[in-house]
Amino acid sequence: MPEAISLASRVTQIAPSPTLAVNAKAKALKAAGADILNFSVGEPDFDTPAHVSAAGKKAIDDGHTRYTAVPGIPELRQAVADRFRADHGWSYSAEQVQICCGGKHGLYNVFQAVLNPGDEVLIPAPYWVSYPPMVQLAGGVPVIVPLEEKDNFDLNPEILGRYATERTRMIVINSPSNPTGSLLSAGALEAIGKMALEKGWLVISDDIYETITYLDGKLPHILDVDARLKEQTVLMNGVSKSFAMTGWRIGYAAGPEHIIKAMNKIQSQSTSNPSSPAQYAALAALTGPQDFPAEMLKAFRPRRDFFVADLRSIPGVSCVNPEGAFYVFPNFSAYYGKSFQGKPINGSVALADYFLDEAQVASVPGAAFGADPFVRFSFATSMEVIEKGMQRIKEALARLT
Ligand code: PMP
Ligand code: GLU
Repeated sequence: MPEAISLASRVTQIAPSPTLAVNAKAKALKAAGADILNFSVGEPDFDTPAHVSAAGKKAIDDGHTRYTAVPGIPELRQAVADRFRADHGWSYSAEQVQICCGGKHGLYNVFQAVLNPGDEVLIPAPYWVSYPPMVQLAGGVPVIVPLEEKDNFDLNPEILGRYATERTRMIVINSPSNPTGSLLSAGALEAIGKMALEKGWLVISDDIYETITYLDGKLPHILDVDARLKEQTVLMNGVSKSFAMTGWRIGYAAGPEHIIKAMNKIQSQSTSNPSSPAQYAALAALTGPQDFPAEMLKAFRPRRDFFVADLRSIPGVSCVNPEGAFYVFPNFSAYYGKSFQGKPINGSVALADYFLDEAQVASVPGAAFGADPFVRFSFATSMEVIEKGMQRIKEALARLT
């Protein structure tokens, strides 16, 4: 038999997205009849608002079924610019906005558009699973900046300087954060902004959870630090989380026009454009009533409060109170070194496997986010599932010796 065709080294150096992988495994087990409680993937357990789905259907009926302009339909680019102005007072033109196939693809586009081989990208950890592999696929080098649980996963400005080199080109920030739910404080953002201005870094601000926050008052943002940062910042956002539209695959990016143009070039040679009907649905989302995230928050808040309190009641477990998003990120490291029927629990991967195999609870190991002491649970699921899941987790932990 001839040898199998070899693969590119760029693909062999990365792993598939662990969040999507655990979700697929949990769904397959469930389909096979297992009583799985799925806390793995991060997507709202709400339907897309009816008026948004209706706009998507109408777009198909109206014949919006062909290619669109590469950076998205002009109305939607303008609607994004209008939202930025109305919600934040930021001034962007439609030309400074790209519509992309989910926030994820916008991130991919920006790394491809800006990074040269060997360029370093500062990524605070715990980080969202896809940042390092996307940087690597663009030839860049992820440089991980550790955040501490004792600081509520805020960035300690003193630490930042230790990881910066002459090869640093970018920093990726994500507040509220996936997986911790933590926010970057105004002080941390100021330090990041100051360094970015001094060193000429590009700041990627992944704001995908901006509407899902339990904070009273305004979320601190990098663009509020210094007006000059607008020339050195690319905003990443989308409708996946804010309008429960994960499957529609519409994200948006905004930033300096030459960077957006470069991202459009990458998009024109890869996806051509995001799905046409989905863009019309997103247009309805961004131009219609904006109260949907607040509706979701009404459900998320009691779940968060219960989850955090119940986790904290387990001996040896600590859990930062998330200020945004819909994840809890408890520290289970007190249980590492224990075992089940002779099988050692030597870290988050083993513990998440144990939860799945022995408690039928699907979660994502902290190692996937660059933080092994922790395991991530999404609370974008019902209170009933959370209560049942917590019972199983407690029993499973108690069985470890
Ligand atoms: N950034 C973060 C931090 C996320 O959690 C997600 C969710 N997958 C994304 C970006 C991208 O989301 P989407 O591609 O669905 O817009
Ligand atoms: N952001 C979500 C999560 O972290 C969706 C999965 C993904 O795109 O990785 O679970």
